[in-house]
Amino acid sequence: MEGKSTTDAVTTQNGKRRKVEHVQQACDVQEDEDEDMEDSTYVIHDKTLSDYADINVDSWLVDSATSSHLSNQRETFTEFTPLKRSIRGVGNTDVPVKGRGTVKLTSRTNGQTITIVIHDVLYVPQALNNLLSISHLDESGGRADIRNGCIHLYDKNKLLIAVGQKVERMYLLHVTAKKHTEHMAISTETANTWQSWHRRFGHVGVSGLQCTLNKNLVTGMMVDENNSPKIECTACIQAKQAHNPFPRQSKHHAEKPGDLMHTDLWDCRTTSIRGLKYFISFVNNCSRCIAIELLKTKDQAIDKFKNYVAYLERQYEFFPKRFRADNGGEYITGDLQRWCASKGIKLEYTAPYSPAQNGVAERMNHTLAELARAMIFSTKSPTFLWPEAIAHAAYLRN
Ligand SMILES: [Zn+2]
Repeated sequence: MEGKSTTDAVTTQNGKRRKVEHVQQACDVQEDEDEDMEDSTYVIHDKTLSDYADINVDSWLVDSATSSHLSNQRETFTEFTPLKRSIRGVGNTDVPVKGRGTVKLTSRTNGQTITIVIHDVLYVPQALNNLLSISHLDESGGRADIRNGCIHLYDKNKLLIAVGQKVERMYLLHVTAKKHTEHMAISTETANTWQSWHRRFGHVGVSGLQCTLNKNLVTGMMVDENNSPKIECTACIQAKQAHNPFPRQSKHHAEKPGDLMHTDLWDCRTTSIRGLKYFISFVNNCSRCIAIELLKTKDQAIDKFKNYVAYLERQYEFFPKRFRADNGGEYITGDLQRWCASKGIKLEYTAPYSPAQNGVAERMNHTLAELARAMIFSTKSPTFLWPEAIAHAAYLRN
């Protein structure tokens, strides 16, 4: 038990030399060292070692004086449990341990690449190097051979797992730790800020984005977790200032799609490049699915309405039962009423000056117009492109 008798873990002036002696002795001692893991003392190496070009914060050094493996890099852990404790370091000072977990090292020996999985590695951010504990290797049935300035580490099956060479008074292993950030670097390209997803999704609010993310509705949508979900978007502020807020209404939904549809016309007050001035929306009360039609004049509304119903019937075998429209002149025509009656569709009108009765369609139009305005403001696009922005907003809402 010579090795054990020299287990002097505290680095002192002459402790430096003692440690190497200890490594050599530990190799000869094959018995487990009966140390209390929780109360072990760990050596955090002094800075002089870092002066060697071969040794840096990524280096893994073999150490006989620590009874646990140590890593100073959080990103090398593949499994990690946070911890709050401290260990004794240089000069008996307390050094915080932030966690414990598993690190994978890649080693090249005899022309072969070997992955070494090390469990129970303590995360010590202040450690100047990463340390592989000889006593821990010993406990797990492994072995270290040291001769002629080289160290050979073997696992319990006597397989050579790593080699290292003496650098001053330590043994530097020819290994590298896999860093998680290297894998994540590929994915962080797609991890965008809330702000950027907000713009991509046509200025949809945070709650909508969070819902999209939580329900996994969009493949590849990754949000940078360090980024606050608060969105400060000047385009949205500008867009909201451009009209009065529309009152929210209850979230009551019809039971079946087609039980109740809403329709409403919106005057865009800007003539588009193709001479369009209005759009009408059709909103399914059950699913809140939207369709829009673009118009040059209000009297096109009736034809667009009929075409939309015909399209639903023919393409989807979907037969809406009830339409609710506001009291606007475009829908109150004998022609439309007769046509709806012939198809068995109930056409309801809201009472005069009570737009909330058709709030679903009205609010949807407000939302679409607001999103479209935000897109136009943020991209500094000409306002005559409003039909493209509205169509895109409707597509994104769906
Ligand atoms: Zn915005």
